[in-house]
Amino acid sequence: MTRLSIVVPCHNEEQTIELFYTTTQAIAMDELAQREVELRFVFVDDGSKDHTLIKLRELAAAHEEVSYVSFSRNFGKEAALLAGLQAAVQCGDLIAVMDVDLQDPPSLLPKMCDLARTGEYDRIAVRRTSRKGEPPIRSWCARRFYGLMSHLTDLDLRDGARDFSVMSKRFAEAVLSCGEYNRFTKGLFGWVGYPTTWIEYTNVERVAGETNWSFWSLVRYAFDGIVAYTVKPLEMLMAIGATVSLCALFALVFVVVRALLFGDPVSGWPSLMASILLATGIITFGLGIIGFYLSKIYLEVKNRPIYLVKETSKQGWQKTQ
Ligand code: UDP
Ligand code: MG
Repeated sequence: MTRLSIVVPCHNEEQTIELFYTTTQAIAMDELAQREVELRFVFVDDGSKDHTLIKLRELAAAHEEVSYVSFSRNFGKEAALLAGLQAAVQCGDLIAVMDVDLQDPPSLLPKMCDLARTGEYDRIAVRRTSRKGEPPIRSWCARRFYGLMSHLTDLDLRDGARDFSVMSKRFAEAVLSCGEYNRFTKGLFGWVGYPTTWIEYTNVERVAGETNWSFWSLVRYAFDGIVAYTVKPLEMLMAIGATVSLCALFALVFVVVRALLFGDPVSGWPSLMASILLATGIITFGLGIIGFYLSKIYLEVKNRPIYLVKETSKQGWQKTQ
């Protein structure tokens, strides 16, 4: 019997939890049972303000394969994944990560388990090939983000990549060994390496409730991802600074020589202002980038806990580290 522990982060998901459980269990009873795969669920209530916790209490009371942990407040999906993985590595031979809104189709689990059990791959990753149902501007920005990430980093991060994965214990333990505060799990999955294979599917829309991500929170998420995995923006900044300084030096020589040869007409101040503004803009932008890195270091050195636990299920939720 192979034990598959599924980590499910939940934030204000009272409408989807039961549906997720029954849909996934139906597959567990049928296709997964045939393969001798047994499910365990580790739900993480990420400081929900609705009845998510009550639903989880009921589910855990009724089904012994369900355990949960509830945070003291909303710490974000990345923190929820960390807490879930810490619990899941203790009770699973294989570990899965899934969203509760059924956008990660449970019907893919049997195929993913088959691939994982061949022993060839440590991670079965999933990417969606379409973004049907998503606002076009969001899809466009997401595509640009993945393009930029593949240019700036050497992570295996593909367009449409989901957090949805089935992974080996050693893969999950490797992810957990990265103890950073600023966690960008998609990047961590790519960073730890190990043999990975990708499965593709067409996008499924959220079954109920609303997305937790606004456009701006996604933009922030994208910046966090870039800053967490590459210092290339700083290198580019240095290159821009050097180029602008060099151009300014040439311009200065040109202006001085021209003044010596032809006198010094007091013209051209608009172009001077424009150059000053351009240079100031570049400097301020640069300071912003440096400040962003600095803020991440600040949060990292404070070494605060990544999440705080308010309540856990009776089945004993335990963290490993
Ligand atoms: N989620 C979470 N904490 C948050 C935001 C989201 O645990 O602060 C969970 C959410 O309940 C869901 C998953 O992360 O299970 C993905 O969130 P969502 O569906 O809102 O994101 P989208 O699919 O729209 O990118
Ligand atoms: Mg979703």
